[in-house]
Amino acid sequence: MNQTIPEVYGKWSFVAVIATVFAVAGLRPAGSQDPVVDDAAAQQVTGEALPDQQGENAEDEIEDPPYTPKTVSQLQKSLSAIQFKVTQNEETEPAFRNKYWDNKKDGLYRCIICGQALFKSETKFKSGTGWPSFYDPISADRIGVKLDFKLIYPRQEVHCSRCKAHLGHVFGDGPKDKTGKRYCLNSAALRFEETSDEPKSKSKAKTSAAKE
Ligand SMILES: [Zn+2]
Repeated sequence: MNQTIPEVYGKWSFVAVIATVFAVAGLRPAGSQDPVVDDAAAQQVTGEALPDQQGENAEDEIEDPPYTPKTVSQLQKSLSAIQFKVTQNEETEPAFRNKYWDNKKDGLYRCIICGQALFKSETKFKSGTGWPSFYDPISADRIGVKLDFKLIYPRQEVHCSRCKAHLGHVFGDGPKDKTGKRYCLNSAALRFEETSDEPKSKSKAKTSAAKE
């Protein structure tokens, strides 16, 4: 009698071990904890700031027309003489005798060649030079800058980043309370697009209207 007791305990112990193994590893529903983790992650995501909160200068609303490069002869036909000289040969138009130096209307200044939006009227300021002057482009990637040695002193030449049209120069004597820069541009390199009070769908359609 006494000898059978350890055997019984041994059998029950074995069963208990097997049951525990199944309970812990085999019989637990797979991935039962995952939904809890996902819910927590989802709550974190919804609690974060929305991606469209990028400040008042969000570029999303500005659309640029498609650009197909033109040959020199095509440009000569589509541009006025001064537009061609300025944009293609980096010449400078006369001060005060140009289209936009005193333009005070609200809107966008686009590249005359490819239509890319370059400057907003909000950043235009009275420089007294006789050329349209701005203290900041819409974004840095819309313009390109290179050193220009055409005069005795070197200047920073400014051009459209998309079609390379010459726009003007940038100097360091702009408004101190802004960027301190003065983008001195040629009206002949620009096409002004006045801000419309009409619904956005109509004003967007106008952006594709380029001089051909
Ligand atoms: Zn351009």
